[in-house]
Amino acid sequence: MTKRYMYSALIIAAAAVAAFGIRALRGPRMKTANSGYRVVMGTFANITAVAADSKTARACVEAAFSRLERVDEVMSDYKADSQLSQINRDAFKEPIPVDDDLFKVLEIAVEYSRQTGGAFDVTVGPEVELWRKAEETHALPPEAELAQARSKVGFEKLILEARSQTVRFEVDGMRLDLGGIAKGYAIDLAVEAMQRAGAIGGLIDVGGDVRCFGPPADDRESWLVGLQNPTADDRLLLVLKLRDMAVATSGSYRRFAEIDGKKYSHVINPAAGSTADELISVSIVARTATAADALATAVSVLGRGKGLELIDSLAETEAFLVPAGETDELIHTEGVRQYVDTSQPVPVYSTASKVAGR
Ligand code: ADP
Ligand code: MG
Repeated sequence: MTKRYMYSALIIAAAAVAAFGIRALRGPRMKTANSGYRVVMGTFANITAVAADSKTARACVEAAFSRLERVDEVMSDYKADSQLSQINRDAFKEPIPVDDDLFKVLEIAVEYSRQTGGAFDVTVGPEVELWRKAEETHALPPEAELAQARSKVGFEKLILEARSQTVRFEVDGMRLDLGGIAKGYAIDLAVEAMQRAGAIGGLIDVGGDVRCFGPPADDRESWLVGLQNPTADDRLLLVLKLRDMAVATSGSYRRFAEIDGKKYSHVINPAAGSTADELISVSIVARTATAADALATAVSVLGRGKGLELIDSLAETEAFLVPAGETDELIHTEGVRQYVDTSQPVPVYSTASKVAGR
């Protein structure tokens, strides 16, 4: 062996020892499993699990998907036989018994309605329905129909009876819509399922709403999550570095009704019956995906002033807002700085969600 080769062999050996040493300090080598994109809850989901061995990591991914699918069974408003559909059909006639997941999410939803002064409201169904029709017909909902719908909206008309775990409507024609919270809630339940299955770390992305926990498998401290740029489909707004946090985005940039050249958001101001169009994108960083999801919807309704006021009043909760119109403005709370990765040119985990055909 020439001297030069010996030298480089030594360097390689030294590097191997150094790498092994670092690994030994970090504990045993962790394994990662990634699901790739799969369709669930009417959108694409991507799950990464970190565990002591590959088999456990793969089992964690499957445990998380099973949990997402179970939640979807109960909460889907696209499935006629789901518990949610049953409530929407019969809850004015009689109290409808529901399972733990659904009852819990409704209790949490009502809490968010109170906290947001009704900006978030799962009883928004009748108004959502009119605006969905508008999306199809490209005609604004008639004022009389909107007024009718408005009289059927209001979380205070939703009766949750804890003892019998039943749901009842006080007014005929009420309809629940869990679109603003179900994804976040499902993600939180799936995180629990993953942890029970032995995950040390993980990231769950359902349609762009994300929660991560523990360490990523590589030598990073945090998970990198890209936020979609609302005005350029193929670009990211920025990259977040998150650890044990969730982020959810609510926006009119991908789903909207277009009438006479004007875009109308799929987020509705429940009190007015109008669409929430001041902000085209609201991303909320919070501890749980449920909080991030519900608050993103609420801040879309509240708008910049009241929205930021609400988020500033909550611990460990931050917001990024993009106003509608021809501005490049990105409004955010002070605390977001700790989460923005300024060094990262290419994101490892992007939330480039696509809405799957339903
Ligand atoms: P995305 O569906 O893009 O994740 P959101 O989390 O904001 O965005 O959810 C929007 C959905 O929530 C709407 O499509 C509708 O089903 C429902 N929704 C609309 N307005 C409200 C509201 N004010 N409160 C609660 N849910 C709402
Ligand atoms: Mg939401």
